[in-house]
Amino acid sequence: MPVVDVHTHMYPPSYLSILRSRSSVPMVREFPPDPISRLIILPGEDETSTTARGRPIGPEYSDIDAKIAFMDFHGIDISIISLANPWVDFVSGVDAAELAGQVNDELNGLCGKYPGRLFAFGSLPLKATADLSVAEVQRLHKLKFMRGVIMGSGGMGQGLDDRKLDPIWKELEDTQQMVFIHPHYGLPKELYGPRAEEEYGHVLPLALGFPMETTIAVTRMILGGVFERFPRLKVLLAHSGGTLPFLAGRIESCIAHDAHLASLGKSGMGKVTNALEKNIWLDAVIYGELGIKAAVEVSGWDRVMFGKIPSVKSFVTRI
Ligand code: ZN
Repeated sequence: MPVVDVHTHMYPPSYLSILRSRSSVPMVREFPPDPISRLIILPGEDETSTTARGRPIGPEYSDIDAKIAFMDFHGIDISIISLANPWVDFVSGVDAAELAGQVNDELNGLCGKYPGRLFAFGSLPLKATADLSVAEVQRLHKLKFMRGVIMGSGGMGQGLDDRKLDPIWKELEDTQQMVFIHPHYGLPKELYGPRAEEEYGHVLPLALGFPMETTIAVTRMILGGVFERFPRLKVLLAHSGGTLPFLAGRIESCIAHDAHLASLGKSGMGKVTNALEKNIWLDAVIYGELGIKAAVEVSGWDRVMFGKIPSVKSFVTRI
């Protein structure tokens, strides 16, 4: 059986050059005298800091030959590459559509250099109109190496239970392209307390904020009836679904026993289980055996997909 890595990011050269030209997040900059370029992408980062922050960005993020060497070294047969967060979310209007199209074409072209070993998830111009995203989904369906899209939990700005996304879900469902849902925006910084910024690095937002963000996003999809309106929609959740495997029973119980949902005729058991059985796949990027076991227990072996830790160093900074 081939080893397929479904969660592995690339920054095509044209996208990197845009980040290099920017002076606000997301951006790439150096912290002299250190010559290493660093990627600064998380919301709320101090762009003017003179202390090195962000993560070093090496050729493995943009050089497709380096990606293949990485795959060979780790015994990975096939990678489904995707643009990393924040995708093209920092661009709005037709500019977003243009950038998404350009980056998607570039990713598709990179895959073409190693046919059979590389496929990709495209990005959508979600800060433009839904029509432009629908058009890009239709276009991606015709590109040889595209297998779906990657999307942040913010969707078009109002989360994934936003009805404005319905035409996009419909097109993804109709073309049976998967949507890979990935965190980026995190939880309110106040939750991490006044010591977090200076003393705790990125531990709280990455280790806890990201998984909770994903869990909340998919729970909102379930509560908002997305999987009832689009029963054949295929969703891959990053980081083993955040905490969904652990909390599935609790979410299910709260839905079943909520008086307000009952008054709306929206209660009842099975909504989470149904979504896990029919719509949701999980990756295996959870960094712990117990977490993997929970993901497999709740979703089944055939619905938990491999995702590779890029290196020991990036173990702590992987996003
Ligand atoms: Zn990621």
